[in-house]
Amino acid sequence: MILIDGKKAAAELRQELKHEVTGLKAKYNKVPGLTVILIGDLTPSQIYVRNKEKSANEVGLKSEVIKYPDSVEEKTVLEKIKELNKDETVSGILVQLPLPKHIDKQKVIETILPSKDVDGFHPTNVGNLSSGYESSVPCTPLGCYLLIKKVEPNLNGKKAVIVGRSNLNGKPMTQLLLKENCTVTITHSKTKDLKAECLEADIIVAAVGIPELVKGDWVKKDTIVIDVGINKTDKGIVGDVDFDEVSKNAKALTPVPGGVGPMTIACLLKNTIECFKRTQI
Ligand code: NAD
Repeated sequence: MILIDGKKAAAELRQELKHEVTGLKAKYNKVPGLTVILIGDLTPSQIYVRNKEKSANEVGLKSEVIKYPDSVEEKTVLEKIKELNKDETVSGILVQLPLPKHIDKQKVIETILPSKDVDGFHPTNVGNLSSGYESSVPCTPLGCYLLIKKVEPNLNGKKAVIVGRSNLNGKPMTQLLLKENCTVTITHSKTKDLKAECLEADIIVAAVGIPELVKGDWVKKDTIVIDVGINKTDKGIVGDVDFDEVSKNAKALTPVPGGVGPMTIACLLKNTIECFKRTQI
């Protein structure tokens, strides 16, 4: 079984991006800039943002974190986003989710200029992705896609089963694999026989949020299994795939942690650079 090393893949991607930023700096005399807005003091969000900032600095991006207390008014955040939209030194804007209840997530997402939407959540980018046009692609599915391509560069005609239909993961993952000519089945909480669906798959991407949902006897030999899940349990952090069981069957599998997670952040940097390049003449 191939253990898909997301840490290594992310380090390689960051190295490539670092070279690219050096080239862009030489060509344009400026570097891409990423601005992250962090609201409140939720610990996981703080850790994510710190890692994003550290990685952005590592590849040579200009990075900035704007922090607001939980009590910040929605209006203040929207005004700041509008200001950043006009700022030429800012290539990408990310508002760390989740947001406090009094702030409308959709309003925030739609205020970010689609050309600076490094998360790929703006409806314009969602539409462009599903129409096959150039767009920012949500970082986690983009990371999954790059890992799958490392194991199997030619995905033509492969059967892919996506477990979970979230806007963040399942739906964009479906679009990326469709583009690669996979036959894609998207499954969810109302799917009648998830095991039977998974047993058809050459590729399984599990993004559900249920610890070890995908079992060993759900996976046929030669299947590539990508585990997006991050679940806190008594035995520590586990994914949505039963690693011990599935690793006996699958052709390739991502571990949790050390699989998809590191690629998510590297893809955020990639998206920031892509946003920068699209605005240069
Ligand atoms: P979500 O809650 O938005 O969506 C979960 C999806 O799973 C839903 O579409 C739902 O229909 C489906 N589902 C629920 N129960 C099911 C069942 N029994 N069978 C099949 N489908 C079922 O979740 P999300 O935001 O997509 O996140 C999923 C997981 O991925 C979580 O564990 C989250 O922490 C993790 N995550 C990881 C990363 C990363 O970088 N690795 C990034 C984002 C999310």
